[in-house]
Amino acid sequence: MLRRTARVLLGLVMTITFALGGAVLTAGTAQADGCYTWTRTLKAGATGNDVTQLQIRVAGYPGYNSVLAIDGSYGPATTAAVKRFQAAYGLAADGVAGPATQAKLYALQDNDCTPIHFTYPELNTCNSTWAGGKVAAGTAKANALSSMWKLEALRHALGDRSIRVTSGFRSASCNAAVGGASNSRHMYGDAVDLGASPHSLCTLAKQARYHGFRGILGPGYVGHNDHVHVNQGPSRFWSAPSCGI
Ligand code: ZN
Repeated sequence: MLRRTARVLLGLVMTITFALGGAVLTAGTAQADGCYTWTRTLKAGATGNDVTQLQIRVAGYPGYNSVLAIDGSYGPATTAAVKRFQAAYGLAADGVAGPATQAKLYALQDNDCTPIHFTYPELNTCNSTWAGGKVAAGTAKANALSSMWKLEALRHALGDRSIRVTSGFRSASCNAAVGGASNSRHMYGDAVDLGASPHSLCTLAKQARYHGFRGILGPGYVGHNDHVHVNQGPSRFWSAPSCGI
């Protein structure tokens, strides 16, 4: 009897704590975030750097064979991307980036603005300064961040199981050392190679078509039978003949 009473009391305490926590979250003002904090609800017609920051994070939801422009202007494509993002995470899919959508994005990012399942070192195994490629170091790093948000969307679409990155940014010397193509997007920081397991290479290549990658190379394309290469280069080129792509 005494034990049961204690258990009931403990349950009550937990319920009250939970309720208070929920009240604080919903009643408070915008949740501060270590990386970036939005100060307004964003919707169609909005412009500015806060829209750009949103676009970087939802660029993995452009729809099949599309790429979301990161232009700081909240047009129909951004609305559609936000809707897909919201639907993917069980939020009301209204295409408006309000508190609930922003809170989900905060929950998905680390304090250095990378999505929680990917890191800068993971995307840069050969040169931690991001220098020595085809673009300035800051550009290469920003391109890698953009790729990571697309990979986060890909990862979520594949059931939140891990994705294995085997190569990311390469300086020109690093690219030459690993036998990369002379014009490889790896030197721009926007290319990522993915290894098999837990997903098959064809699963990765096929799903990548929905997440904003202009370049997809996989099994059946010369030199790509043991990995899938995705990039954000300027022109669309998909080829993975063994996967029907
Ligand atoms: Zn590659």
